Amino acid sequence: MSDAHMPPAHPFDDDKLREECGVFGLIGSADAANFVALGLHALQHRGQEAGGIVSYEPSQGFNSARRFGYVRDNFTSQSLMQTLPGSLAIGHVRYSTSGSKGPTQIRDVQPFFGEFSMGGAAIAHNGNITNADALRRELIERGSIFQSSSDSECIIHLMARSLQRDIPSRMEDALRRVEGAFSVVAMTRTKLIGVRDPLGVRPLVLGRVGDAWALASETCALDIIGAEYVREIEPGEMVVINEKDGVQSHRPFRPQRPRFCIFEHVYFSRPDSIIGSRSVYETRRQIGVELAKEAPVDADLVCPVPDSGTPAAIGFAHQSGIPYGMGIVRNQYMGRTFIEPTEQIRNMGVRLKLNVNRALIEGKRVILVDDSVVRGTTSRKIKEMILDAGAAEVHFRIASPPTAWPCFYGVDTPQREKLLAATMSEDEMREHLQVDSLRFISLDGLYRAVGEAKGRDAASPQYCDACFSGEYPVEPSDQIEKGFQLKTAAE
Ligand code: SF4
Repeated sequence: MSDAHMPPAHPFDDDKLREECGVFGLIGSADAANFVALGLHALQHRGQEAGGIVSYEPSQGFNSARRFGYVRDNFTSQSLMQTLPGSLAIGHVRYSTSGSKGPTQIRDVQPFFGEFSMGGAAIAHNGNITNADALRRELIERGSIFQSSSDSECIIHLMARSLQRDIPSRMEDALRRVEGAFSVVAMTRTKLIGVRDPLGVRPLVLGRVGDAWALASETCALDIIGAEYVREIEPGEMVVINEKDGVQSHRPFRPQRPRFCIFEHVYFSRPDSIIGSRSVYETRRQIGVELAKEAPVDADLVCPVPDSGTPAAIGFAHQSGIPYGMGIVRNQYMGRTFIEPTEQIRNMGVRLKLNVNRALIEGKRVILVDDSVVRGTTSRKIKEMILDAGAAEVHFRIASPPTAWPCFYGVDTPQREKLLAATMSEDEMREHLQVDSLRFISLDGLYRAVGEAKGRDAASPQYCDACFSGEYPVEPSDQIEKGFQLKTAAE
């Protein structure tokens, strides 16, 4: 894939955690694949490397198309979309699965398809299976032949080995063997199926448009097709939808206390999405309010690191009474129009993507609000830009707690030793970044911002927050086998 096909997901996308997938499915409307393409387009922030759609039409059977690059560059072609007929379709956008870092092969692009004695099925998976290595070994020993390096393909092989008589029951069997995080959208010839893991780590929502039903990673994907948001798929729930009977709900797993990914609120989800009944934008604004209460500082200007720091900066400014201003302006077209042809230009790095609004910054004590610090490389560059523009002081305020642990549940994270917060205290990070002050929101403050008035329940946390706390709600068994060390009592 050329650089021209890589989108500017975030100005420092090499220094951010990245969501790895988005899923979408629709049943009950002619040309379902066109709706799926639109839904995937709205979910492009969850994965920009590749996308795929599978559709079913009775006279033509299953059809699929899988492509590298943006949805809009592939699934807007009339000639391609005509090959995906039918009133039932699912799709997937991916960044990269944890099983296959590095260059993706087209065979790793979902949805995956399996042919069973009772008919075909296609599945699209958002999340990560934490026992995929062990499952793959077992399945290969028992004769399965894998076609991709994706952990998600295990689900198809486990379904093939199930003795159940219908596909939803086989899927239940398969998913009971799987550990980790999964929001799955699947289809048979007549059914659209949605499943969330028992902890509900990754999101999945149900929508309705006319007589059709839709499943999507986020509500913003329902909005784009004019669908009404009906509800979330509950943690541990499987919905089976057909055109005649509508939505039927099953509970295939042992009930557990949900542990939704709290980072969806902070960064991954689009700000115009709704999680539960909460607006993501409003939650992020509230994080800024909490941050201003926890870590006030005397300054002249609150400035977001665009775009993901914007709602928290607005909340911070509101709470502190310090004026808000766009001290940094993002070049929206970077990445698509400019391929950094020379070393000299490549070294300009952040300046290609962001520019400082000198007239606003000069002589001011500036509070910079960002969503997270991962490696810290770009935070330092931004600070330099702000100082070069004549700022008197630079104070960082971060809308998430220090990211000190990797995620194994479907988010791309650097290895632990590359995470700044894994090796430095907050004070050491401030010195390393050479800023006048650096403060992160506390875990309790973040929990309050997402609506937990009493903060985090330490005995039984209400969310997954493993990348901050090191407390993994599902043991990452494959990683432990590879040498990953869980948090010790001393840490
Ligand atoms: S470890 Fe962090 S990013 Fe991963 S699911 Fe948990 S909260 Fe989300």
